[in-house]
Amino acid sequence: MKNTSILSAFSKTMCFSLLLIFSISSCKKSEAPVVTPPDTKLEVEATTIAKIKELGFQTQNIKEFGEYYIVEDDILISKKSLLGVKRPESLMSTGGKISQASTNNLVNGNNYHNVNISIDESIWGHGVWYSAVLTAITVWNSNPNSDIKLNLIISDYQYSPSPNVDIVIRGDQGALPTNVAAYAEFPTDSQRPGNLILVNSDFRDPFTQSFINQGQGAWNVIHEIGHTLGLRHTNYQAIDPPSNAGANLIAGTPTSDPNSVMNGGTALSDYNSSYPALPSIYDAVAINTLYPLSSSSTIIPYIGGQNALFTNGQATYQMSYKSVETGIYYKWEVTGINGTSYYYEFTDDTDAILNEIGFSTPGNYQLKCTISGGKYTTPVTATKNIVVQ
Ligand SMILES: [Zn+2]
Repeated sequence: MKNTSILSAFSKTMCFSLLLIFSISSCKKSEAPVVTPPDTKLEVEATTIAKIKELGFQTQNIKEFGEYYIVEDDILISKKSLLGVKRPESLMSTGGKISQASTNNLVNGNNYHNVNISIDESIWGHGVWYSAVLTAITVWNSNPNSDIKLNLIISDYQYSPSPNVDIVIRGDQGALPTNVAAYAEFPTDSQRPGNLILVNSDFRDPFTQSFINQGQGAWNVIHEIGHTLGLRHTNYQAIDPPSNAGANLIAGTPTSDPNSVMNGGTALSDYNSSYPALPSIYDAVAINTLYPLSSSSTIIPYIGGQNALFTNGQATYQMSYKSVETGIYYKWEVTGINGTSYYYEFTDDTDAILNEIGFSTPGNYQLKCTISGGKYTTPVTATKNIVVQ
């Protein structure tokens, strides 16, 4: 069920009390059954609270979480990042709800907005979260007018060269309360993406006791990646006491947007029918405004997979940049190198994955994958050398 129809089925009051319970983001308690509230003990020093307040966050219910503080229920702030906190610029004043908003820190243009996201081994075997990450990356990349390029790095695959990892997505290993789906960090003071997303390996729908479905997982990962890129909660003022600092309203977005994937308290929302678009056109406006497309910009992709194979063994290789935007095309080629004679072209592969290839003759081979036809005008090629023994 789409989030919009959930919303229309309840009065606003009911809706918020319902969603708040399970939320990615909200801290209000309600009459909800089953849920275990997060630890609300305030153990944080006053000077730390003051710094967090300076950053424009709510100061109720701040929790310590290892090397982080958790604020507004799903946002991680690293303790390290608070050492150099600057006073944020003041915001324009608004009444009531606010629209799509961004943090003061955004991701800089280093690496042409290529952001490498690693799936940690803690969720390799977790079907819902793993596929949710794939879907979320594809959705952000397929948005036609933004410059953000997310590359999926799988931590048990071999890469040469090894990519720098910007964001790690890992399982919580029991650390998160059962009513919280995921946490994420905002961009750092050095204008790099927030570098951690934690997903709750046993997050369940309290109505059905089932693990959330793939559409719900995708919704949550799209949302958390949005935080790492600097998007705040669209309904910030509706679900939390008003605060105007540190949330910069994004031009061209409405005063409220029930369809926004960046609304807090929507962890049970289901991403399904609009693939590969973002759930709200204003989510697209928001990311397009923060990171406008530069068509001369360049994808920096990697091919991941085994460096060495046995004769007649098989391996699957993946291109890190995954998009299904209109016109994009992936062309795979395999060439013999260093004296090995071989050429093969895979003309029918358009999904960034080269499935189960093998070689009958020992030698040296080079895989090439070329991306063309998408929103960036310059085709790019990633290569990977393979030794077959
Ligand atoms: Zn959130």
